[in-house]
Amino acid sequence: MPAVMIPSIVMPGDPGWNDARQAWNLAVDQHPAAVALPRSADDVADVIGFARSRGLRVAAQGTGHNARPLGSLEDTVLVKTTRMRRVTIDPDGRIARAEAGAVWREVVEAAAEHGLAALAGSSPDVGVVGYTIGGGISWLGRAYGLAANNVEAIELVTADGRLVRTDACTEPDLFWALRGGGGSFGVVTAIELRLFPVTEVYAGLLWWPAESASEVLQAWRDLTQSDPPEEFTSAAAVMRFPAIPDVPGHLRGQSFAIITVIHLGAPAEADALLAPLRALGPVTDTVQTMPVAGLLQLHMDPDHPVPSVADWLMLARLPAEAIEEVVRTFGSEACQALLAVELVHVGGEMKRARPGHGALAAIDADYALFAGGMAPTAQAVSAVGSAVKAVHSAMRPWAARQMYLNLADTRRDPASFWTPQAYDRLRRIKAAVDPGDLIRSNHPVVPC
Ligand SMILES: Cc1cc2nc3c(=O)[nH]c(=O)nc-3n(C[C@H](O)[C@H](O)[C@H](O)COP(=O)(O)OP(=O)(O)OC[C@H]3O[C@@H](n4cnc5c(N)ncnc54)[C@H](O)[C@@H]3O)c2cc1C
Repeated sequence: MPAVMIPSIVMPGDPGWNDARQAWNLAVDQHPAAVALPRSADDVADVIGFARSRGLRVAAQGTGHNARPLGSLEDTVLVKTTRMRRVTIDPDGRIARAEAGAVWREVVEAAAEHGLAALAGSSPDVGVVGYTIGGGISWLGRAYGLAANNVEAIELVTADGRLVRTDACTEPDLFWALRGGGGSFGVVTAIELRLFPVTEVYAGLLWWPAESASEVLQAWRDLTQSDPPEEFTSAAAVMRFPAIPDVPGHLRGQSFAIITVIHLGAPAEADALLAPLRALGPVTDTVQTMPVAGLLQLHMDPDHPVPSVADWLMLARLPAEAIEEVVRTFGSEACQALLAVELVHVGGEMKRARPGHGALAAIDADYALFAGGMAPTAQAVSAVGSAVKAVHSAMRPWAARQMYLNLADTRRDPASFWTPQAYDRLRRIKAAVDPGDLIRSNHPVVPC
C-alpha cells in the first residue's frame, strides 16, 4: 500500500516531519519510521494495515509525556492521536466520553459545566487515555480509587485491524487488560469514564523557606500517618527554582519546602489536620475553597512541552529517617541539578483491590516519590539523570515491591507493575490479541 493512500501519514523528510515526531518531553528525540496523525478509528485501522504491510510495528502516543521508555522507534509507525479530540459528557449517566487524543484540561472543563469532576491527574495536558490505561493516580484517588477502575468502556483497534468496543460484558478479558495494563493491546480510539458530583474542593499550597524542610516534611509525615480521611490528600516537596527569566522574580534562585493539600470534605476538618503544619509558620498559605477544575493548576505542572528528566519510586514505608534522607540528598552536591523531590501520599481507595477492577486492581504502596529537573541540554540530561539515580538509590531501602507504570520514566522489570497473577494473565491476553507483538507500548507486555 503506497503511503499516499494514507493521508494521515508523515514520512521522514516530508514537510512537518519535525513537528510530527516531537514528544511532549522535548528531551526525548524520537525517530520513528513514520508518524501517523489519524482523525478517526477508521484511519487508525488503515494505519495498522499500512504498518503491517511494511513489516513495521505500531506505537500509540497521546502526548509523549512518557515517551522516554519507548526506546528506538526505527521499526515503528508512531500513531499520534492529537487530532482525535472530541469530548462529550452524559450528565445524567455521569459519564465522559473522550477520544484518544483528548487531554485532561478538555475533559475536566467539559465535566465542570455539569457540576461533575473527573479523576484527572495533576497536569492539564497529560493524555486522558495514556494516563487512564496505565492506572491514573488522581488528587481525588484516595477517595474514589484509580482512574482505570472507574472506566465504563474502551474502544480500540486491535493488531488485526478490528475496531472493538470493550466493557464489562463485551470482550471482558481485553477490557480487564486495558484498565491498568497499559498500551500493549491495541490503539485505543475512545474511552468512557465515570464522573463524580464534586464542584468545589478545599485546596492550596503551604510554603516555607527550604531551611525548614526537615521539620516541615517530618510534620507532614506525621499527618499522613495519623490515618487522615480518604477525602484528604497531600504531598510534600523540596523545590529549587532556577535563576532564569521564566521564573517569577520572588521565586527566582530560591528553594522551598512546599505542602500541597486537597480536601473534599469540610474546610474545618482539613484545618484541624493542618494545624501542626501551620504552627510551623508557612510564609505563604493559599489553602482555600476553589472550583475542582482549579486542581489542574494547583501543582504548578508545566502546561506545555518541556525538556525534562524525571522518575518515580513507589515507597512501602516512610520512617523519619527516610524523610531525613530526602532532605539530605536534595541538598547534596550531587543533586544540585534537581528541580524537586516530592512525596505524594497515595493509598486509600487506590490500595483496595475490588471485584470488577482491572489489571491494576490496586497500588500496594503508601507513597510515591518523584525526583526530576529541567534538561534543555545534553549536559543537563546527564546531570539531572545522575541526580535522579542518586535520590532513588538513597530511598531504595523503603521501596515498595510494586512499581507504577505511569510513573516509570525508565524501563523497569514489567513484573514489578502488577501482581504475578495479573502479569501472567496480561501476557496470555496479549498472546491472544496480538501474537506477533505488532503493538508496542512504553512499558510492554510481551506475549507468552
Ligand atoms: C508533568 C506530568 C504530570 C503527571 N501527573 C500524573 C498524575 O498526577 N497521576 C498519574 O497517574 N500520572 C501522572 N503522570 C504520568 C502520566 O500518567 C504518564 O506519563 C502517562 O503515560 C501519560 O499519558 P500520555 O498519553 O499523556 O503520554 P504518552 O507518552 O503519549 O503515552 C504513554 C503510553 O500510553 C499508551 N497510550 C497512549 N495513548 C494510547 C492509545 N490511544 N492507545 C493505546 N495506548 C496508548 C502508550 O503505551 C504510550 O507509550 C504525569 C506525567 C507528567 C510528565
